[in-house]
Amino acid sequence: MTLEEARAALMKLQQRQSAYRHAMDLIWYDGDTVAPKGTAANRAQSLAILSEEAYHLSTGAETVALLEFLDERKPELNPRERRMVELLLKDVRRLQKIPLDEYSAHERLIVEAGDVWERAKAASDFAAFQPYLERLFADAKRFAGYCAPEKDPYDYWLNEFEEGLDRARCDEFFATLRAHVVPLLAKVQEKEQLSNAMLLGHFPAADQERLARRLMALIGLDLEHVGLATTEHPFTASLGSHFDERITTHYYEDYLASSLYSVIHEGGHALYDTNSADDLAYTVLDGGVSMGVHESQSRFFENLLGRSRPFCEYLFPILEEIFPEQMAGHTAEELYRAVNRAEPGLIRTEADELTYPLHIMVRYELEKRVMAGELSVSELPGEWNRLYREYLGVEVPDDAHGVLQDIHWSGGDIGYFPSYAFGGAYGAQLLRRMRETVDVDAALRAGNFAPINRWLREHLWRHGCLYKPAELFERAAGEKFDPTAFTTYLEEKFGELYGIEQETFL
Ligand SMILES: [Zn+2]
Repeated sequence: MTLEEARAALMKLQQRQSAYRHAMDLIWYDGDTVAPKGTAANRAQSLAILSEEAYHLSTGAETVALLEFLDERKPELNPRERRMVELLLKDVRRLQKIPLDEYSAHERLIVEAGDVWERAKAASDFAAFQPYLERLFADAKRFAGYCAPEKDPYDYWLNEFEEGLDRARCDEFFATLRAHVVPLLAKVQEKEQLSNAMLLGHFPAADQERLARRLMALIGLDLEHVGLATTEHPFTASLGSHFDERITTHYYEDYLASSLYSVIHEGGHALYDTNSADDLAYTVLDGGVSMGVHESQSRFFENLLGRSRPFCEYLFPILEEIFPEQMAGHTAEELYRAVNRAEPGLIRTEADELTYPLHIMVRYELEKRVMAGELSVSELPGEWNRLYREYLGVEVPDDAHGVLQDIHWSGGDIGYFPSYAFGGAYGAQLLRRMRETVDVDAALRAGNFAPINRWLREHLWRHGCLYKPAELFERAAGEKFDPTAFTTYLEEKFGELYGIEQETFL
């Protein structure tokens, strides 16, 4: 094989892998959106077979020979090709260590577990989900043992979701957050609460959908390539490549802010994915590099931009146009205050910017202890409720509003949650850096996302997975990760909103 032939084969291999992923992701997407309730076993059957085929393609002798051939000729490859070979080989080495029967059994398990979780949540019946969750945690431990026997299993998974992350970094980061967020929240709770009355009332789903599509276009999504559907739990999925992106939302007719900010959040994910350089499509470099960087983009749009005063000034007249009666007598400043009302609650996805990290800390503590064998799955509901009391001061009434609320564990995504908190914190530094060259407030006040998106495309989005997450972040932010940028942002924002003297934070 010549180097040129190997280069062409490398691209062909990735196109075939993308096609398998496309088929599998579409089956997942169907199950999450419009598929009839009784069809999970049918999807599990197809997914188990397709994932086996994809496994054979990725770990077959021909593929391994090709990748090893290219790996030996690394100096002759361009940076993109080098990174492709690095990522593909990493995947091969990982897959080779997991026995095929266990791998496809796991694929089947997560489809079934997703179905059982949904029913268990609807009935608030943790016992129904418990045996599945036990198997999912057991798989996570066993697979980590196969792939990195020298590593702590939870560290292995943290690093899988965010390269470079481990318990030590999480512990340090969460300790810093706690030291700032807990006293700030206590001061907020001493003050008069901000009213969110204007967001409560009746907001017909059809009108909310009109608003959702308008917001998608406003923030710069190309609606020819990004679709919108409704699901219980909002999410974003790339199908096959960044040329076909789907976001979902959930309309609550009695509460306007939920879908409004879900759409901006998922829209941030979709902007990141769809702005990969076009020639990265159908390669492993297409789309977002890690969950942490992904969440940094979604939370950037949702909170740092979407919940800013200048954006609320632009948004309010749009709300007046779509909901004239509900908005009558209110102002943009009231909207800004309403969408930033900080209040400890039960549900992570409904949490405000200030209390959100506390929800993540609960999940982190619990995952860490189950993975370490210090806590059994059957003890999770009780410990969940106890930590919500301790961290957020709220009483969990039932498991649907407690341990069963999130989809992640049912999909085997153990070690995912901490990336949400890191992502939220990355944004504060990115915004600080962006402000050096972009008049962000003026752009938001004018509803003009072009200069903001241009900056993000240039520094982050177009690179796809070319750089490791930490390297990409540092190149964009111009400095190393520093969580105090985020805590300072929170103290300034909520200090001003609630009328708290700044010096009291010293
Ligand atoms: Zn997200």
